[in-house]
This record gives sequence, structure tokens and C-alpha cells, in this order.
Amino acid sequence: MGSPLVAILSGAGISTDSGIPDYRGPNGLWRRDPEAEKLVTYEYYMGDPEIRRRAWQMRRKNRTLQAEPNAAHLAVAELEQSGVPVRVITQNVDGLHQLAGMPARKVIELHGTARTVACTQCHATAPMENAIARVEAGEDDPPCQECGGILKSATVMFGERLDPVVLSEAVAITKACQVFIAVGSSLQVQPAAGLAAVAADHGARLIIVNAEPTPYDDRADEVVREPIGTALPALLRRLST
Ligand code: ZN
Repeated sequence: MGSPLVAILSGAGISTDSGIPDYRGPNGLWRRDPEAEKLVTYEYYMGDPEIRRRAWQMRRKNRTLQAEPNAAHLAVAELEQSGVPVRVITQNVDGLHQLAGMPARKVIELHGTARTVACTQCHATAPMENAIARVEAGEDDPPCQECGGILKSATVMFGERLDPVVLSEAVAITKACQVFIAVGSSLQVQPAAGLAAVAADHGARLIIVNAEPTPYDDRADEVVREPIGTALPALLRRLST
């Protein structure tokens, strides 16, 4: 028998050691600041050039693109490189799993990525750093270079639906895996909460690594409440042997 398929669902908590705060969680920065929340809410963003101007300034100052993967991201990539089949399902938009060495095709980004911009009209994409360079060169609200449409970060804003293809891929992996590790996610919002339930219903070994209790702790085979930066590498080393 081959190695079991390990699915890792990661939330904001895995990236805090990389200096990225929780933005979109139930107690995240955006939820606590109505003005900031508007900048990442589709309806406001599309309807108001001033909101877009401020959103670009926020992206320009955001340090997510400069962040480095931490020990937890590296441990996930090392597990995959050891030959264990690993798939990552992430709520994060920072791209740090891939920077740590996870192949992009094995990372499902539920909320998209902050490293890319996408046109809301023709869906053309471009690197975020190019758009930021245009803002720094004086464009308040750089339009799509293909069609002139409104550009946004390739992330799922509040008021936007998750990509159904991405979501169904996440569900398929959750049903297929033998081990499901939820790390750094409060498991309080969809789709993360639903995925944890699917994993448990399908008989996967459910392991939860999170600083705070989650609604799924009593369904878990194992709950780890230690710092992710040390707890996850230790846990994954156990799986790789
Ligand atoms: Zn376009």
C-alpha cells in the first residue's frame, strides 16, 4: 500500500509567523474596520473610483508580497518532497506554500491570490507587482492593459462567490484523503468549516492544529494547541516516517 493522501487545510494562522496578520477571518482586521472592509468588498470597489484609488494604495503598502515562508510552510513542502502525496487547500492569498516549494498544481487557493491582478471585464491576468509599479508611477487606478476594464486583485472579495471549480476540487481532495490536517483556521466560516465536516464524514483522520478551540475539535482524532511554527513540523515529521 502506498502512502496515504494527506490534505492540509491552511488558514491565516499558518502565516502569522511570516508577519501577515489575519485580514479576513471572523475577528480579522477587515471585519473590525468598516472603512477597510469597503476596499475589499466587490460592490463598493466596482462602484467607486475613490475606493479603488484607496485599495491600490493599500495594496502598495501591503507587505504580503515581501513576506517569506516560515517553518510551517517549509515543513509542508518537505513532506511533499519526501514522497508523501500532499495537497494543500488554503484560505490564504499570500502564495507562501508555493514559495516554500509546494508545486503550484498541488495548492488550491480557495480565496485566490494577491500576487496576481485580474480584469473584471475580460479576465486577463497580470502580476500584481506590475500593477503596483504603475500605481507608483502615478496611475491612481490602473486599468486593464488588454481592454481598459477595471482591474482588481485576483482574490475573492467580500460579496463575490468562490470559484465553483476550485471549490469542487477542494471537496474532491477532502473526500479522497486519508489524513486531513486543519492548521491555523478557526473553522468558523465556509468553506473551511464544511470541508472539515466532509473529511470527518468520509473517515479521514482529522487533525486540528490551532491556537484557539474550533467547532470541530470534538470530531477530531487529534487536537494540537501549540504554536504552529513548531507543532506542525513535529506533526508532519511523524507522518513522513
Ligand atoms: Zn480586460
